[in-house]
Amino acid sequence: MPISRVNSRLSEVGTSIFAEMSALAAETGSINLGQGFPDTDGPAEIAGAAADAILSGRGNQYPPGPGIPELREAVSDHQKRFYGIDVDPGAEVLVTAGATEAIAASLLALIEPGDEVIAFEPTYDSYAACVAMAGGTHVPVTLHPPGFRPDMAALRAAVTPRTRILLLNSPHNPTGMVLTREELAAIAGLAVERDLLVISDEVYEHLVFGVEHIPVSTLPGMRERTLTISSAGKTFSFTGWKVGWATGPAPLVAAARTAKQFLTYVSSGPFQYAVAEALKLPDSYFNGLRQDLLAKRDLLADGLRSAGFEVYPPDGTYFITTGIRGLGEEDGLEFCRALPGRCAVAAIPNQVFYEAPQAEARGLVRFTFCKKTEVLTEAVRRLGALAGPAAA
Ligand code: PMP
Ligand code: GLN
Repeated sequence: MPISRVNSRLSEVGTSIFAEMSALAAETGSINLGQGFPDTDGPAEIAGAAADAILSGRGNQYPPGPGIPELREAVSDHQKRFYGIDVDPGAEVLVTAGATEAIAASLLALIEPGDEVIAFEPTYDSYAACVAMAGGTHVPVTLHPPGFRPDMAALRAAVTPRTRILLLNSPHNPTGMVLTREELAAIAGLAVERDLLVISDEVYEHLVFGVEHIPVSTLPGMRERTLTISSAGKTFSFTGWKVGWATGPAPLVAAARTAKQFLTYVSSGPFQYAVAEALKLPDSYFNGLRQDLLAKRDLLADGLRSAGFEVYPPDGTYFITTGIRGLGEEDGLEFCRALPGRCAVAAIPNQVFYEAPQAEARGLVRFTFCKKTEVLTEAVRRLGALAGPAAA
């Protein structure tokens, strides 16, 4: 047996597309519109709060397992302030190493081998991997362009006696689809009827454009069966700090905490103090972030359209999914591997988010717009060259 053998559950689903495309972007000097991370850090006063915490010796040693009380209070206040949700900071909040660990810990804690987990696909890459590591079976239900709206009949048909969890993500990466109240009500009705748990990844909760983000836990019958996950990475533009959290009923939070103890045990001590401050920022911060990203979304969407892409405008997140067939392209993976060489821009092929990508999925490519305006303007200029030489 080769010593480098990877657990087969993981090797079947493992992909490193973000690392591959970021490395390619760096090698070729390309503008990286692939992996989603901002090129501008979050508020200076919040970075200062992290530095103060380190220098004043707060969080430099193992913080409490569930997270520091200040951050658990701040998460609880945030849920109340934005959504009217009551969560007990003592028993209903768990601080994690980013949303990534919250997803992993909750799936590891709540799945028995053979259990089925339904998620809409395209599916954020860690979901299928974590379901596999937990010994579960990932059951994708595909969202189709142009709207990427959920097909309730398909969702209902995917539920079996082995289904344990619906793993939701709204606002949705990579499509930018945001579930409406009607859609959430239909999903919630199914969850109650079939007695399913819901894990709801809401990391892009504050990045919505002209639509409302509605936590699924606020729908009737959902509070007791929903674990809600979020993160400071997206909301405060500090993706490297890896501070996330899960909130929900005490038994589900306790389950995730049990798994978390054996993953990281604790994490990000000083950053937890800073994120506790960040969550208290005034409404103007959250509105400003949204306004800024809205203008950037429109800038990139217009540029992509002019360059010959089919654009599926997102209602949320900082990603735009595009179709590449108008450019005479069939395969997004090949296209993304060649794009840095062709015009010095990097993107992500949506097909990596599908279990068995069909032609439709292979024709989709994702670009991020969480970059400086001048960077997006230059990217658009470069992408504009695509149509030219190819047509000539
Ligand atoms: N869920 C989704 C849908 C994401 O896009 C991301 C971003 N990487 C994560 C979870 C992970 O968040 P974090 O960086 O806080 O681990
Ligand atoms: N969430 C970001 C994205 O989807 C980063 C993902 C990652 O680096 N694992 O691009």
